[in-house]
Amino acid sequence: MMMSRLYAPTLKEDPAEAELASHRLLLRAGMIRKEAAGLYTYLPLAWRSIRKIEDIVRDEMDAAGAQELMMPIMVDADLWRQSGRIDAYGKELIRFNDRHEREFVLGPTHEETITALVRNELRSYKQLPVNLYHIQDKFRDEFRPRYGLMRGREFIMKDAYSFSATQESLQEEYDKMKAAYANICVRCGLKALPVVADCGEIGGDTSVEYMALADAGEASLVYCDDCGFAADDEAASTTVAVIDGPGDGSLTKVATPDCGTIDEVAAFFGVPAKATVKSLCLVDGEGTPTLVLVPGDHELNDVKAEHAFGEYHLMDEDELIKFGLRKGFIGPVNLPEGIRVVCDESLKQAHQWLCGANEEGFHLTGIEEGRDFAADAWADLVTVVAGDPCPHCGKPLSAARGIEVSQVFQLGTKYSEAMGATFMDEDGKEKPLIMGCYGVGVSRTLAAIVEQHNDESGICWPVSVAPYEVAIVPLDVNDELVWPAAQKVAEQLAAEGIEVVVDDRKERAGVKFADADLMGFPYQLVFGKRAVKGGNCELKVRATGERTEVSLDEVAAQIAARVFAERA
Ligand code: ATP
Ligand code: MG
Repeated sequence: MMMSRLYAPTLKEDPAEAELASHRLLLRAGMIRKEAAGLYTYLPLAWRSIRKIEDIVRDEMDAAGAQELMMPIMVDADLWRQSGRIDAYGKELIRFNDRHEREFVLGPTHEETITALVRNELRSYKQLPVNLYHIQDKFRDEFRPRYGLMRGREFIMKDAYSFSATQESLQEEYDKMKAAYANICVRCGLKALPVVADCGEIGGDTSVEYMALADAGEASLVYCDDCGFAADDEAASTTVAVIDGPGDGSLTKVATPDCGTIDEVAAFFGVPAKATVKSLCLVDGEGTPTLVLVPGDHELNDVKAEHAFGEYHLMDEDELIKFGLRKGFIGPVNLPEGIRVVCDESLKQAHQWLCGANEEGFHLTGIEEGRDFAADAWADLVTVVAGDPCPHCGKPLSAARGIEVSQVFQLGTKYSEAMGATFMDEDGKEKPLIMGCYGVGVSRTLAAIVEQHNDESGICWPVSVAPYEVAIVPLDVNDELVWPAAQKVAEQLAAEGIEVVVDDRKERAGVKFADADLMGFPYQLVFGKRAVKGGNCELKVRATGERTEVSLDEVAAQIAARVFAERA
């Protein structure tokens, strides 16, 4: 491809609306253009990368035994009524009527369509399992479409659906999909973690999200480098380290003037925050005033609190006064009547606690649960943070942010039961098909790759998903040595099947370098007059910045070998 012909209108300035690196760079490199909120055109360079991602996905799906088909984007709303999702899905679902006033939806996902497809045809256990997928535009009228391709209203998804006769067979399909998804991430150059999103009754996972690690990610995660454990910090559950508070084991009242916060209390006693106990007051979903005690260096986790307390709210100052509580000096001993006490499980490790005395200006040391007060309940209540012990192996956890690029899910019989998709089992009984669903965000994956592979000059595509693998940059296209030399190498590479873009523009060297870097071609071959005269060109590796002179006779073979090795 000649650069002069390439439809890749680059932008000199950072677009004001782009907060994320991927959004900014895909716009600047002339790879995407916004049509309207959450709607983008993929320009030729981005489309080439999208197709490569799709091919990697296809390859992994096919290898795992799934079969590609293609379903319509428009879905009869009646199917969504049968599944019961038409209203449950909410406003994200785009609904409209055709000219005959029949209602349709634009598929945000295709469980209904595929279940309706197979319910007439998968009739016997002998036909199972089956796994079917397609790669297609999906539509979700997101409340806040943003971050470019990251959260669009129309986006590309690969969705696969498996149908099994038994739970064991579903588990096999699910495990194959998990392995395929891990491979897809690796082959796309993504560093990603499988994060358990949902657990089944017998303890194993029934849903996993693949999270590409990136500071721009919406999810905050904790993970263990040692054993591979990873979880959303909201869902992670571990015993956080706490230590005994100060004191000699007897209940002692200490004057703590001006110590209203954990930091002030810890400093006053000269102990770390984890030797203190934090008091939080809330009113639970049933209206019961509740004192919640958590380790001083951890926060009450909203999701866990909702599990424990229903639709709770933290008490405001007026409520604290109403219940006779002294802000900054609250604790479990001498608590006003009628207040429940719920403690975080981790506190079981400490035998003498440091808490407020329920008296302005005083704290108590040496509080012992059971002796000085009785907890009404214990629960897992805090947000896990970096440094907390891994629940599996005990090593310290790391924290990171993640972008959900894909998810696998054991659906069970939710859709097959609702929609009457049954099969005849070995024992002659009619049973609902047991389903799994598996989604990859193809366009979001593109954005996630850019988030992980960029620097101040632009994108650094991994070879496996690069729009072109090599950029040939002749510095003076009119030079009688430079142009033919560049042309020859380009032809040699093309003959090897390498994807080459040649910068044939009569631009300054600086402009050409900047564009090649911005668009992020993995290998750049620079043809300057002096080097060519000496029988060489300069190889620049985009990702590392490494530059070397390579002989014109050897460069094509050398680059081809490197590209083949990195194609994935
Ligand atoms: P999210 O929680 O980010 O809204 P989701 O869990 O609703 O996503 P799924 O239904 O699991 O999404 O869809 C499968 C995949 O499709 C997701 O893992 C994600 O990569 C992608 N995806 C979902 N919504 C969008 C969107 N609005 N724009 C781009 N990709 C999306
Ligand atoms: Mg999801």
